[in-house]
Amino acid sequence: MLDPWQPQGVTVELEREPDGELRPAATVFLTGAECPFTCVFCDLWRFTIPGPTPVGALPAQLRSALEGLPRLLQEAGLERCDRLKLYNASNFFEPRAVPEADLEPIARLAAGFERVVVECHPRLVDGRVRRFADRLEGRLEVAMGLETVHPRALPRLGKQLTLEQFDRAAARLLADEIDLRVFVLVGVPFVPAEEQARWAAASVRHAAEAGARSVALIPVRGGNGELERLQRLGSFEPPDLALVEEALARGVEVTGGKAAVQLDPWDLERVGSACGACRGARLEAIREMNRTGVPRRTVCDVCH
Ligand code: SF4
Repeated sequence: MLDPWQPQGVTVELEREPDGELRPAATVFLTGAECPFTCVFCDLWRFTIPGPTPVGALPAQLRSALEGLPRLLQEAGLERCDRLKLYNASNFFEPRAVPEADLEPIARLAAGFERVVVECHPRLVDGRVRRFADRLEGRLEVAMGLETVHPRALPRLGKQLTLEQFDRAAARLLADEIDLRVFVLVGVPFVPAEEQARWAAASVRHAAEAGARSVALIPVRGGNGELERLQRLGSFEPPDLALVEEALARGVEVTGGKAAVQLDPWDLERVGSACGACRGARLEAIREMNRTGVPRRTVCDVCH
C-alpha cells in the first residue's frame, strides 16, 4: 500500500506558454484517495490509497517535495521555477481526495509560485475552485479532461461527462478568472484508427474555443486491464508514434496559436512504432513541436 504521507515524485520540465516562451514547471505527484469516476482508459488508481486522504497528508507531501526542488532544478541547469502542478491522481476539488482543511496550508506552501495548476473533473468545478484561487498568491489554472468530442466515444469512456457539462465548467472557470488547461486523448477507445488524428484535432479546437490556455495531448497507454479487454474486442488500438505525431501537428495547426498545444512527454518513450526506421525522427519531431509550436511531419522512406 502507498504511504499517504509521501508524494509519488516530483519532476521539472520546460513547458511552452501561449506566447511561445518556455518556462520551467514543477509537477508534484501527490498520493491520496481514489477518484470516484471510472474512465476506461485511466490507470491513476495505481497511485492512490484506499479510503479518504488523511487531513494533513497533502501539505506534508508538498512540503517534502518542495524541499527537494532546488536540487532538481540544479540538476536540470535551471535557476528557478515559478509554475507548480499539483497532480493527485484524482480530483483536487473532491473533499475525500483533498480535505477542505488542507486547502489553506497547501495555498500557503504554494506561495511564491506565479501559477498553480491542479486537475479536476468538470462536474466537480464549483464555488470551491474560486475560494481556493482566492487563497493563492499566484494564479490558479485548472486542468480538465475533455478526452474527446467524438459524440459516440465520449459517452462510452466511463467519464460520465457531456460536452455541455465540460463547456459549462470551462465558462465558469473563465468567468472566475481562473485559467483552463485541457487534456485530450490520442488513441481514444471506440474511435477507428484512421479517424483518430481528425478527432484529436477537433477536440483540441473545441478546447481552445472553450478558452483553454493550454492543451495537453495524452497518448492512451495500455496496462489497466480494461483497455486490453477492449483491444481484444477490437474497440481499442494503442496509438503509435506516427499517429501521435500527426495528432500533435494537427492540434497545433487548428488552434492557430490561440492555445499552447503540447504532447504530454512523460510516457513518450513507451509509445510504440510500427516502423523502426523513423522512430527516432518522429520522437525528435514531437519534442521539437512541443518546444516551438510549429507543426512538423516526418517523411519516412520505409513506412511513408
Ligand atoms: S476522472 Fe480522471 S482520475 Fe478519475 S477515472 Fe477519469 S481520468 Fe482517471
